[in-house]
Amino acid sequence: MTNFDLNGILKNFQIEGEVAQVKLYGDGLINKTYFVETRAADAPNYILQTKNSSIFKDVPGMMDNILKVTNHLKAKVVAAGGDPLREAMTVIMSHDGEPFYKDEAGNYWTVYLFIEDTLIYEKADSPETAYAGGRGIGKFQRILSDMPGTLTDILPGFHNIRFRFKQWDEVIAKDPAGRKNSVQEEIQWIESRRDEMLCFWELVESGEIPTRVTHNDTKINNILFDKEGEVLCVIDLDTVLSSTALNDFGDAIRSYTNTGLEDDPNPENVSMDIQIFRAFTEGYLSEAKDFLTETEMKYLAFSARYITYEQVLRFLMDYIDGDNYYRTNYENHNLVRTHAQYRLLESIEQQKEAMDEIVMENCKLG
Ligand code: ADP
Ligand code: MG
Ligand code: MG
Repeated sequence: MTNFDLNGILKNFQIEGEVAQVKLYGDGLINKTYFVETRAADAPNYILQTKNSSIFKDVPGMMDNILKVTNHLKAKVVAAGGDPLREAMTVIMSHDGEPFYKDEAGNYWTVYLFIEDTLIYEKADSPETAYAGGRGIGKFQRILSDMPGTLTDILPGFHNIRFRFKQWDEVIAKDPAGRKNSVQEEIQWIESRRDEMLCFWELVESGEIPTRVTHNDTKINNILFDKEGEVLCVIDLDTVLSSTALNDFGDAIRSYTNTGLEDDPNPENVSMDIQIFRAFTEGYLSEAKDFLTETEMKYLAFSARYITYEQVLRFLMDYIDGDNYYRTNYENHNLVRTHAQYRLLESIEQQKEAMDEIVMENCKLG
């Protein structure tokens, strides 16, 4: 591991107070995050991050998006009489006036104000936490639903099934690892649903389903709650994009409701927990029902199918490709993931009516 001169890096930012210590913080999977403690009692603490450059190719574009989003959030918080330093992330600028610092080796660094006195849930495994997570994402989308302009597309093709099918068709044609013949049945899982998935995406492409500000990493540990358990601030804004709001909903359902593991060796463990679905949906729609269009509500439950299907496709495609994208721990890991995600997809499909009913109940309520 490279040893960075963290104090030297921090000198490039407009921070207040003298740095007392910098230590690795949290267990985020994507970036490396440090907690920066300052010495003076009246100076704030900070979060320092180095961005993962293999995932994020356009950090200036990303930070431009984050500034747009946090500025809009802050204006809305102030208008509602809230605290803009606690209810929205604050980007600390560099002395050059940039929202990042690029070191000599080309690494990008960012600094945010550390938000004190919060609660974080590491997992959404009860109806209460699932409800809280749903509210957090719904509120985030609601406050940003009138943000003018669009965001830079820093992750081209993200959740775009037309783009995935293009990659898929290429991999199937090439069969680089010679595995295609052994997964004919699995390939049919993908092909038999292709048209349906494309029909949905056409609604996004035509604008019938609108494009909004979306978060795209809806894990519950990306939401800070206050000590009373109320949603305070959504963090980890690296993946904010202009996309359909349904992607955030669908991806949260895919991860929150799974009774098993994403790579469960025993697919029997995997199913969609309808109680968790209900709780997340109630929380989400308590915030989102006023801005979502009728078409969005109609496809809300479907979005869980769409996102889970996309994940089955990506695991299977990586298996056929010879395991180049997802880190594998054993020979058939991507195939095991394919089977476990497919089991989740089937469970979602089996509970389709119940899911649609829960959405409808929560759209109607006052
Ligand atoms: P990753 O993209 O790697 O998940 P995050 O931006 O989510 O990184 O940061 C990792 C962790 O650091 C978060 O889960 C949270 O616990 C903490 N954190 C990040 N930003 C802040 C902040 N502004 N205030 C308080 N805690 C924060
Ligand atoms: Mg995170
Ligand atoms: Mg992140």
